Amino acid sequence: MTDSIAIGGYTVTAFSDGRLKTTIEGAGANDNAVICAFTGSENPEPVIFAVNTFLIEGRGVRALVDTGCGNTRGSSLGKLTANLMAAGKPLDSITHVLLTHFHPDHSNGLIDGAGTAFFPNAELIAHETEAQFWLDSEPSQSPNARIERNRQAAQEVCAPYRKRMHRVKDGEALPGILARLSPGHTPGHTCWIVEGNGDSLMIWGDTIHLTRLQLAHPEIGFNVDVDPAMGAASRMRLLDQVSADQTRVAGMHLEFPGYAHILKRGSNYALAEA
Ligand SMILES: [Zn+2]
Repeated sequence: MTDSIAIGGYTVTAFSDGRLKTTIEGAGANDNAVICAFTGSENPEPVIFAVNTFLIEGRGVRALVDTGCGNTRGSSLGKLTANLMAAGKPLDSITHVLLTHFHPDHSNGLIDGAGTAFFPNAELIAHETEAQFWLDSEPSQSPNARIERNRQAAQEVCAPYRKRMHRVKDGEALPGILARLSPGHTPGHTCWIVEGNGDSLMIWGDTIHLTRLQLAHPEIGFNVDVDPAMGAASRMRLLDQVSADQTRVAGMHLEFPGYAHILKRGSNYALAEA
């Protein structure tokens, strides 16, 4: 499995931000049988999953999809900027940042600890539905404290990008790079599709958090899903689509480098190396 793949006129490269530790309870899987099937244990272990980002290069752009956690989630995360620089991709050479959604492990890495943009020359692109939910609402409209915390964080990380931020609808945002709404995990959660020469890659953000569990039980959400039922419907729709047409996917929380093909097996799904 390689870190880079060619799609149309682009090269897409996975960059790790690190690894995030959570618990199976965090999956919202409160059915013991399901938990045990996943962990092989009656005492679910902490779960650790990858935090990936993807760099799309070619056709005059160097576009980063998501930014990881920045310095907000401890030393096992926030490694993206060092990894980019080590690969010869200076931060001021990034032309665009495309966000799948405004959650801390995807957008906090827009700024450093002083609130300065990590990517001083990048245009920031987000789906209009996602931007509206996190950036435009008053605190009194937040359904709960977590969402309010994340709203404040989203507004803070976007502040230095305000004059170069673009809200897009479904469809082409950059040549051969398309936004597609897949709501539920967040109201405007967005897949970014890279296509060209009859080939395509779907960078599907947080469609899957816990690979084994959610491929076997795609109806199970994650505790930070804003609308778990809508998220499950989006997940099942995308799994059906990419398994039927054999679209390669790239996931922020699939094991690094995060590329996969999805196979359908009865009512379940399985992962095949891409
Ligand atoms: Zn995430």
